[in-house]
Amino acid sequence: MKEIILVKDGELSLKGLNRCNFEDKLVSNIKRRLKSLGTVKITKAQSTIYIEPLDDDFDFEEALERVSCVFGIAGYSRACVCEKTPDDIFSKAPVYLEETLKNVKTFKVEAKRADKTFPLKSPEICMELGGILLDKYPHLSVDVHNPDIVVTVEVRDFAAYVRGNQEKGAGGLPVGTSGKTQVLISGGIDSPVAAWMMAKRGLSLNAIHFASPPYTSVAAEEKVKTLLSKVARYSGTIKLAIVPFTEIQEQIRDKCPEDFFTLIMRRMMMRIACAVSESENCLGLVTGESLGQVASQTLPAIASTDSVCTMPVLRPLIGMDKEEIIKISRAIDAFETSILPYEDCCTVFTPKHPHTRPKAGQCEKAEESLDIDALINRAISGIEYSYID
Ligand code: ATP
Ligand code: MG
Repeated sequence: MKEIILVKDGELSLKGLNRCNFEDKLVSNIKRRLKSLGTVKITKAQSTIYIEPLDDDFDFEEALERVSCVFGIAGYSRACVCEKTPDDIFSKAPVYLEETLKNVKTFKVEAKRADKTFPLKSPEICMELGGILLDKYPHLSVDVHNPDIVVTVEVRDFAAYVRGNQEKGAGGLPVGTSGKTQVLISGGIDSPVAAWMMAKRGLSLNAIHFASPPYTSVAAEEKVKTLLSKVARYSGTIKLAIVPFTEIQEQIRDKCPEDFFTLIMRRMMMRIACAVSESENCLGLVTGESLGQVASQTLPAIASTDSVCTMPVLRPLIGMDKEEIIKISRAIDAFETSILPYEDCCTVFTPKHPHTRPKAGQCEKAEESLDIDALINRAISGIEYSYID
């Protein structure tokens, strides 16, 4: 029996004239994500996308897993393809749904008839198929209000489709429809979640990570790559820039007042991130900051880092509690990696009493003995790029 995956798009219905672009993007994102599984034919009609595998050994389970991570999808299901005749639908449906129906007690049938020339009307399809299923599976009963499973028959232009319950999709908007940003990624819990949240709103991602060898290790960089690969399951390929940050941190340690170490370090990160972003055509930065979580995440500290930025800084976690962040971290399978105990450059040379409420001009004064432009240029020229997917 021929099987396909049916995908219902999500918020796209809100997008009016842009709808077509959004759908095209969604289709190309699905295509890219399934490419390595074999040849698939993807078509769209009336807010449904049809994914038809053309290879016999197509891995359906893996394909469904990948589809479940594509943003812009409200729901998806496997479905059996039938000829557009009552006979074919009524003979295939009970066989195709056998396994599913064995494990439930109640059901109802719904029918959607896009092709009005089909000989049976929707209520007739429901009645007829309902009767057939009750005969064949006597343990079942019909519950129209709260059934364990809804059996859906869709009669479309070229074929009819029979399916069971639909799975919930990842929601959000297709990645790429909102442009591109660069996420500042550490090895912690927060920044991968922030990246995931912004990808969900349709942004494709670049990433930038600051490494301070020998104070930070190769293992810490590998951890960042692993975390990005978890995000990439949803966002698609991420271009990662690893910036050598040791010289900057040592100079801050040697030349700046200790209570400003963290603030100056963060301002340097932001300046470099903005410069790299511009050269990569990113429209903004994303960080995992959450208000008040640590000394550098007070509003005055954020104001001081924002003041050196030349583009918007998105902070999707700003109003979230750690518990809420961890819930998402677990859901995207990042948490167990995030809690591995590798050092981050933020924990190198941390001041005993970090300044949390810098006043206007104080940071500028504290960093005046640094040759900021030269430091930034040297760091940028040492960047190593890689692609994570
Ligand atoms: P996370 O859990 O994401 O590490 P955090 O709560 O530890 O965040 P900080 O260490 O203050 O907070 O970092 C705040 C944000 O700054 C991070 O979410 C991330 O966006 C960015 N950041 C921190 N360290 C790095 C780094 N080494 N490279 C790139 N960005 C970083
Ligand atoms: Mg951190």
